[in-house]
Amino acid sequence: MAKKHLGQNFLFDPSILGRIIEASGLTSDDLVVEIGPGHGRLTKMLAATARQVIAVEIDRDLHKILSSELKDFGNIELIEGDVLEYPFEMLPRFKTVANIPYYITTPIIFRLLETAANLESMTLTIQKEVAERIVAKPCTKEYGVLSLAVQYYGEPEIKFLIPKGAFKPTPKVDSAVLHVRKLAVPRVAAKDKKFFFKVVRTAFSQRRKTLSNALKPLQKENLLAVLEALGIDAKRRPETLSIEEFAAIANEL
Ligand code: SAM
Repeated sequence: MAKKHLGQNFLFDPSILGRIIEASGLTSDDLVVEIGPGHGRLTKMLAATARQVIAVEIDRDLHKILSSELKDFGNIELIEGDVLEYPFEMLPRFKTVANIPYYITTPIIFRLLETAANLESMTLTIQKEVAERIVAKPCTKEYGVLSLAVQYYGEPEIKFLIPKGAFKPTPKVDSAVLHVRKLAVPRVAAKDKKFFFKVVRTAFSQRRKTLSNALKPLQKENLLAVLEALGIDAKRRPETLSIEEFAAIANEL
């Protein structure tokens, strides 16, 4: 019986699992971390492709089944625990490949991007709408805080879609396989990362307003002068700004 509260929607189709591995660009040199191995179908294919697999599963019952199921694989380290507490910062260079539990999609992505210095890439099966927001470009309705936050750290790309009928039990939403290559340095040089994200969040909390109105809550007297000096029209809507423009505004303010 699948546990809904743990986001358990399993994938069994070997051709879909094969395409996920292909999309990840995994090689026999790689260390790979899988979040939520479930019944271990993807885990076994990862073990056949990569050098070493670390698989973190929170469900005690599944962990027990997996322990015996995977016991003959010498290159799988199975861990029972919450992935949000896993010390990614301790790992040498690694990739993540996973069909993740959707109830913690953003915490997982930011834990990986912010704390795992040695993360090379992540290939995650996530809700299609969330993937579309992550890869979104300016002037689209999907573009927002999530797009900018992920694109600050990495290069996201939707590799392919998976219809909901491919999962057991069938979820309410379709899925997408998202690949994010982590950038060696963030995409833009924000002098103060916290303030940069504050500017982005403030702007998008009022995305229908003009930029000058949307950024008013920052209480910066030099706002209009800064926009003018940067050649950014104060009447533009926040959703039209590129990440470079947000960084320039934050740096000048
Ligand atoms: N990898 C399997 C597959 O593709 O069929 C299972 C994917 S299922 C969408 C998500 C898995 O993550 C489940 O096995 C679930 O128990 C596990 N999980 C849920 N929350 C977790 C957490 N906080 N830490 C680690 N694993 C978790």
